[in-house]
Amino acid sequence: MTASMNSGTPVYNPLESMNRRFDAAVEVLGLDVQFANVLRVPDKVVMANIPVTMDDGTIQVFEGYRVVHSHHLGPSKGGIRYSMDVNLDEVKALAAWMTWKCAIVNIPYGGAKGGIKCNPRAMSKGELERLTRAYTRAMKDVFGPETDIPAPDMGTGQQEMAWIVDEYSKINGKNAWAVVTGKPIVLGGSLGRVEATGRGVMVSTRSALAKMGIKPNGATCVVQGFGNVGSISAKLISQMGVKIIAISDISGGYYNEDGIDVNAAIDFVAKSENRTLEGFPNAKNISNGELLELECTVLVPAAMEDQITPENAHKIRAKLIVEGANGPTTADADAILDAKGILVVPDILANAGGVTVSYFEWVQNRLGYYWTEERVNRRADRVMKAAFDTIYNTSEKHKVNMRLAAYVVALDKVATTLKLRGSF
Ligand code: NAD
Repeated sequence: MTASMNSGTPVYNPLESMNRRFDAAVEVLGLDVQFANVLRVPDKVVMANIPVTMDDGTIQVFEGYRVVHSHHLGPSKGGIRYSMDVNLDEVKALAAWMTWKCAIVNIPYGGAKGGIKCNPRAMSKGELERLTRAYTRAMKDVFGPETDIPAPDMGTGQQEMAWIVDEYSKINGKNAWAVVTGKPIVLGGSLGRVEATGRGVMVSTRSALAKMGIKPNGATCVVQGFGNVGSISAKLISQMGVKIIAISDISGGYYNEDGIDVNAAIDFVAKSENRTLEGFPNAKNISNGELLELECTVLVPAAMEDQITPENAHKIRAKLIVEGANGPTTADADAILDAKGILVVPDILANAGGVTVSYFEWVQNRLGYYWTEERVNRRADRVMKAAFDTIYNTSEKHKVNMRLAAYVVALDKVATTLKLRGSF
């Protein structure tokens, strides 16, 4: 892939990574190019410039996006990201990944994604609330329980979802719980949703280790990113008996070959002023780059895109990579990891536990009947295990890696639906 350069550092484009895998899957399936052309591009792109009054009285304008990639399987679904790195190509790639993800776990949704270019850590709660409500007003004709349903992603969580449901409900004059998922439990959220993505990463890890004939006891794991996905993945994988030897976040990496106490790390972040691992004790400080290259059984990238690239892929010493983040591996790195014999459970499978339980939340909202956590987890685990097996078997059938197999399964399903619906 052609990476552009920024001060000597290659910069990758996640949309290009997505398209490369998409094209490879089109070839494996022998899909008619006309249908491929429909699915390669998003259905709809909405961009809004959002003015917000800051606490100091000044007015700042924020760029907000919502990209609906597809609606062929049902209303579109996908999170909202608050980050300074947000840009249209990234949101387009994330929206397409949501389409493939929903198809893989067999839930009746299309794909979408939203993003606001902002630094949520540098904003007060009041500023974030005004921004979130203004974004919701800007997207009021896109969002809807039957049309497009947002959820949390990097930099957003239950509080932002509560503001969205409140603002959307006010606009429409009635409570519309099902317009967004990842809500607080008292506002129609689902038990198990906060843990769902990390739980799916754990189920994927367990399934992959079993296929590789590796017992969790004695295995080691390195996790990059310690937010919702990274911290819960680390906690649940450690509960399987795997030793977590390194964790990281924006403040850097923390390594202890005797094992990191994950619960202590979660408590540390919750109590720290800037909600990071900065100053986490009993661990050696390393960089995020060094962390990725540690010798371990399982590597879970759970932070950002484009972390495993042709620059470092040949130095990766994990036996298994389970992608908690979206797009952590660039397209050119795939072949390098394959050549090293590293099994990669791709993002669109490994982190699909989140959207699966989001779907359960939406179902519960529409029924007005709420499930126990045990029921949510049991059903989500079943969905993730079945999806893993389907992708693993497809990879064996076509003799391709699991990433390509995941795209093949997803694209086949969405393209079949597209052909049946017709209307061109
Ligand atoms: P989050 O905001 O809760 O946490 C992100 C973590 O990454 C934080 O610990 C942050 O410090 C760290 N981080 C940020 N920049 C970093 C860097 N340059 N190097 C190392 N660490 C860095 O976000 P999240 O919801 O956990 O999402 C993480 C990834 O998982 C994203 O790719 C997201 O799209 C994906 N994902 C999230 C969900 C979900 O349900 N939250 C579902 C599917 C996929």
